[in-house]
Amino acid sequence: MPNTVAIIGSGPAGLIAAERLAAAGHAVTVFDRMPSPARKFLLAGRGGLNLTHTEPYEDFVARYAEAAPRLKPMLDAFRPEDMVDWVEGLDEPTFAGSSGRVFPESFKASPLLRKWLARLDASGVRLALRRRWTGWTGDGALRFDGPEGEDIIRADATVLALGGASWPRMGSDGAWTSILVEAGVRVSPLRPSNVGFEVNWSPIMREKFAGEPIKRAFFTHKHRSVRGEAVVTADGLEGGAIYALSAPLRETLAAEGHAELLIDLRPDMALDRIAERLATPRGKSSQATFLHRAAGLSPVGIALMRESTGGPLPANPRALATLLKAVPLRLTGMRPIDRAISTAGGVALEEVDDGLMLKAKPGTFVAGEMLDWEAPTGGYLLQASFATGIRAAEGVMKHLAAVP
Ligand SMILES: Cc1cc2nc3c(=O)[nH]c(=O)nc-3n(C[C@H](O)[C@H](O)[C@H](O)COP(=O)(O)OP(=O)(O)OC[C@H]3O[C@@H](n4cnc5c(N)ncnc54)[C@H](O)[C@@H]3O)c2cc1C
Repeated sequence: MPNTVAIIGSGPAGLIAAERLAAAGHAVTVFDRMPSPARKFLLAGRGGLNLTHTEPYEDFVARYAEAAPRLKPMLDAFRPEDMVDWVEGLDEPTFAGSSGRVFPESFKASPLLRKWLARLDASGVRLALRRRWTGWTGDGALRFDGPEGEDIIRADATVLALGGASWPRMGSDGAWTSILVEAGVRVSPLRPSNVGFEVNWSPIMREKFAGEPIKRAFFTHKHRSVRGEAVVTADGLEGGAIYALSAPLRETLAAEGHAELLIDLRPDMALDRIAERLATPRGKSSQATFLHRAAGLSPVGIALMRESTGGPLPANPRALATLLKAVPLRLTGMRPIDRAISTAGGVALEEVDDGLMLKAKPGTFVAGEMLDWEAPTGGYLLQASFATGIRAAEGVMKHLAAVP
């Protein structure tokens, strides 16, 4: 008789664990509370499914910040090039963009998921949908709320791959935290990561500039700087560069109630050069036309400068150049977790062994975003979800082999 393994959560972490366990001959069922699998993975494909990144591997691993030492052995076993091979093994060609980000040629998640689910089905993986896991019975069986009431399921091992708490409509709502805390597992509070921040814009900024991109700028918070793009929204700022700073900005907001962001609108031009150009006669041009001609500023850049001073811009060319190189914005809050791309916090890494088995619950393994790590956008989230899913599957295999 093959061992039975219950995987709860049909996101990328759960599905890759299912694939590895089925390939090793185990009887695998993947449970999910939603009526169809991998909804967040499909959503991730809507804006272009960023699978991984081609930057030097050491830099890649460093993106996981404090969790990097713990994740490195798992990433070593499933590196960015393994992700590419795996996707191409499903007959989905990939390409790396100029930024190093890797995407499927289709750009979307749906063709990849369709082929993946067909391959899982052919390898015997069963899907049990509309089953919400609610915890354990007194003797350790799994409890589910299903369409016909409660189901009690016994399995030789369980992988929890329940995701974080962003976009709860896609299935991962973070409700698992109370179940695990009750079982004696330390869980760091779930917080938004890769999320927008709030700025108390003037009505003009909100009405005229919401949706405008701030391109090729340099964004700094305290000692962290990121080159990239952001978008003005009605509530504040969103976009890759802001997401990349979301962890330190979140910490400052929690400690100080607000956070300062500095934007260098012309990172490729030295302050002296800009000051020199701004010192040339303006003639009959309007201020906006002059700033565009002399310093290449877009209307949204000028609006940001005005926003930071409360209206008038400095008349002195050097003071104006200094402002343009570091426009200060006061961030007053973060967007809520249900609008975040990912979640920080989760099951503390000290709570699992090297095979990702919960020390407090032998036979139960944890994978994916529900573990306490965070990373910026750029393919790092999927890479770590896969790498931890694979490690949990290997942990299950070792555990089952050791059980008499
Ligand atoms: C808009 C958006 C865009 C993104 N784009 C990218 C990208 O381009 N690249 C990238 O690397 N990452 C991206 N991500 C992040 C990425 O999608 C996630 O990190 C990844 O899906 C996490 O995988 P997971 O398997 O850990 O969890 P999830 O994908 O969240 O899956 C968890 C599953 O568990 C199920 N579940 C939860 N609780 C229960 C329960 N009690 N009982 C039963 N089932 C339950 C949920 O229904 C869900 O299906 C994006 C995210 C968002 C929101």
